[in-house]
Amino acid sequence: MTGTASDTRGSLPVGCCVSTRGASPAVPPSQAIATGLAPDGGLYVPTTLPTVDPATFDPRGSLADTACTLLTPFFAGDVLADGLPAICAEAFTFGAPLRPLPAHPDSWMLELFHGPTAAFKDFGARFLAACLARLPRADARPLTILVATSGDTGAAVGAAFHGRPGVEVAILYPDGRVSPRQAHQLGCFGDNVRALRVDGRFDDCQHLVKAALNDTALQAAVPMSSANSISLGRLLPQMSYYAHAALGWWRAHGTTLNFIVPTGNLGNAMACLWARGMGLPIGTVRLACNANATLAEYFAGADYRPRPALRTLANAMDVGAPSNFERLRWTFPDESALRRALSAETVDDAAIRATLEQHGRMHGEVFCPHTATAMCVLDRLRAQGDQAPWAVVATAHAAKFASVVEPLIGHPVAVPEALADMLARPSHADPLAASEGALREWLLGTRAAVGLH
Ligand SMILES: *Cc1c(COP(=O)(O)O)cnc(C)c1O
Repeated sequence: MTGTASDTRGSLPVGCCVSTRGASPAVPPSQAIATGLAPDGGLYVPTTLPTVDPATFDPRGSLADTACTLLTPFFAGDVLADGLPAICAEAFTFGAPLRPLPAHPDSWMLELFHGPTAAFKDFGARFLAACLARLPRADARPLTILVATSGDTGAAVGAAFHGRPGVEVAILYPDGRVSPRQAHQLGCFGDNVRALRVDGRFDDCQHLVKAALNDTALQAAVPMSSANSISLGRLLPQMSYYAHAALGWWRAHGTTLNFIVPTGNLGNAMACLWARGMGLPIGTVRLACNANATLAEYFAGADYRPRPALRTLANAMDVGAPSNFERLRWTFPDESALRRALSAETVDDAAIRATLEQHGRMHGEVFCPHTATAMCVLDRLRAQGDQAPWAVVATAHAAKFASVVEPLIGHPVAVPEALADMLARPSHADPLAASEGALREWLLGTRAAVGLH
């Protein structure tokens, strides 16, 4: 099923995108971004990964500048090409600092939580929103962005599209399976952003979104697109912070930087691997997973076996069937090369708790539970005598998960200002049964209710 698109590889110009399933026509990146899922049900991937020379990046450039240099070849010849500098400037308004962990030699934290919703999803969501705002649409009706979230994506997408004309957002999240602060955040937007609390798991939410997007009759009535990590418009910008951190490291030390990435749907890690594939000075990449062991088992040599998600403390990674696995297989058509390119480990809830508690009480370090999975993987490496420089990727701010973190570290976590503002607003979510019919009715009903039919 996957990898069949390799026939077309190399025969198309840089700046084209194809589906991982190989049965959709090649499209320019702006169209891949506007469509979300490819018509054959696959995920869009760039035909070829362009290569870049690290020396072409401006050493004094901001993250937005790095993003622009990095992404320019992907958009060569596209309608968005001229707007790319403005898109990057609009999306990357906050940094992704690489900070040392003073208690641990050669250990760093790549902080991706300085955006409006305090998780790395802000980068992708803001870039996607900035792209879509610049794409002309033939259809005068508003575009409904459907987004399934295990906690953080929904808020990032809500924040990125809130108040934008011509766009409606429907956020689907698994009821009771996100942190209380995440739930509040998801429902706090109002206006053009609505939250649906689905009686089911994240995988159910994701399934509902895919089914709605593939429903041609529904698409005709309600023009829809997605903003999940299946959207290329979220994946591409995520390469930027890896590039920026690795370039800074390489200029200072002349070596590559290794990353441990907390992983659920594999969007963040995929971006890291693509950046490495483009020639950026990135060394080893390790995936830190929670008790959802699909990837860890695969990289330990088993067959790929997707399964329903288990609930864990790192809930934004509660994924049993990582949607970007298809992109990973496409990127590495040779399975043995894939197994060599990556490794994955599981970190169960007991280990997450122990990591948060130990680092909090011994070193005064505070992480979110997702970041703790990566920190735990680093602790295991150090215990085995590994002395390489590692960057632990911090995917969210601990304050989003105060109910988990605070009892373990024994003191309150300061709340970033943007998050505090959201928590002060009222919050509402509509209940939804986990059925395609229920979502269909809700979408048609919302249209009718607000007179958009
Ligand atoms: C989404 C998320 C992850 C997992 O990222 P993927 O791209 O789905 O692998 C990890 N940590 C946090 C805090 C997240 O929100």
